[in-house]
Amino acid sequence: MQYIPQIIFTLILIAGVGYFASNVKKLFRNIKLGKAIDVSDNKPQRWMNMAKIALGQTKMVVRPIAGFLHIIVYVGFIIINIEVLEIVIDGIFGTHRIGLSVLNESVYGFLIGSFEILAVLVLIAVFAFWIRRNIIKIKRFLSSEMTGWPKNDGNIILYFEVVLMCLFLFMNATDTSFQNLDSGNVVSQFIAPFFDGMSENSLHMMERTAWWLHIVGILVFLNYLYFSKHLHILLAFPNTYYGKLRPKGQFLNNEAVTKEVKLMMDPSADPFAAPAEDAPVPEKFGASDVTDLNWVQLLNAYTCTECGRCTSECPANLTGKKLSPRKIMMDTRDRLVEVGKNIDANKGTFVPDGKQLLGDYITNEELWACTSCNACVEACPVSIDPLSIIMDMRQYLVMEQSAAPSDLNNMMGNIENNGAPWPFNQQDRLNWANES
Ligand code: SF4
Ligand code: SF4
Repeated sequence: MQYIPQIIFTLILIAGVGYFASNVKKLFRNIKLGKAIDVSDNKPQRWMNMAKIALGQTKMVVRPIAGFLHIIVYVGFIIINIEVLEIVIDGIFGTHRIGLSVLNESVYGFLIGSFEILAVLVLIAVFAFWIRRNIIKIKRFLSSEMTGWPKNDGNIILYFEVVLMCLFLFMNATDTSFQNLDSGNVVSQFIAPFFDGMSENSLHMMERTAWWLHIVGILVFLNYLYFSKHLHILLAFPNTYYGKLRPKGQFLNNEAVTKEVKLMMDPSADPFAAPAEDAPVPEKFGASDVTDLNWVQLLNAYTCTECGRCTSECPANLTGKKLSPRKIMMDTRDRLVEVGKNIDANKGTFVPDGKQLLGDYITNEELWACTSCNACVEACPVSIDPLSIIMDMRQYLVMEQSAAPSDLNNMMGNIENNGAPWPFNQQDRLNWANES
């Protein structure tokens, strides 16, 4: 009988971690649906980027208020969860505050005291975030793509954090043995008097209830991550590591196309020359669905925090065009999730569903509204590159469907026929010199 709580705890822990692990496996499988890309270069620079951008949050503080609040929640949440280690050990072995047996009392008190202060700071920061989202209604949280689930998701996570932090403080306040230590109860000592006069038994019941709810809440939170934009807590690290290193304005040209264009632009080139044989011609140009994108772009989609910093700096969006780089990332992720579910439902094989990213999620109008200015890439706090997806889909439209806007089609026709973007014959190029 005395081992029943330990058995229940272990079963809950295995179920919680096991379900999370199975979803992580699906996540990897989905990301690996993307095309291969070589990102094995410049490892020191990549580690540096990860340390600076993901760990150091250097791009978050570009907007200081939101950045500062985010750092509090991030640091607070991560550090407080060190205490989860103690809960897990206690739960499995039936001990109580095992930390007191392995650490000096004042060290333990210092740790728990710091966690209690952080819990209060997290509560304040979460309250500020909630106000920004729901009362001040900051514009970038109100766009059309931020209704329904994305809006609720943003709030649910705030409520989660409030509940977990409160349970942590409540658990400490009702733990008489911890309060009697009078070390580390920096915040909970002010909550404890509310329970004065209660019997030992009642306090013990309340402490145990908070303890169980706290650990179950953490496991639920862990599993919620997979379905939420808060997956960025984990994915920001690999995403910043694999982020683009080449200069922001530099595109990856398709060699086969580049050589053909060069041939067209060169007046001395043989117009009947065959396309360069050494440049491999891809089976399909550009991207019309998620499986045409590379795996880093798919990792980008899963990492998007839906913060909207990209959209708030996008000149196309600011001038009323339909384009929102945040929506491009959300659409890519939603389509990838849909493809993943299709694979799950069909025993590991994707069965064509008559849908694709282009057209069913992202429209031509959105794609052609992009000025390719890179402002979204610069603004993203976790090194996401929405522009690369836009350019790949545009390439598909141009190369596979000849579906570019008429201005562009005219220009490309001129390059092909006249070797220049203008509608004048090559023979007439020097006519200007004859004008007197
Ligand atoms: S590159 Fe395109 S999507 Fe990104 S900010 Fe500029 S116009 Fe907007
Ligand atoms: S792409 Fe980056 S900046 Fe844009 S919403 Fe996602 S995380 Fe925020």
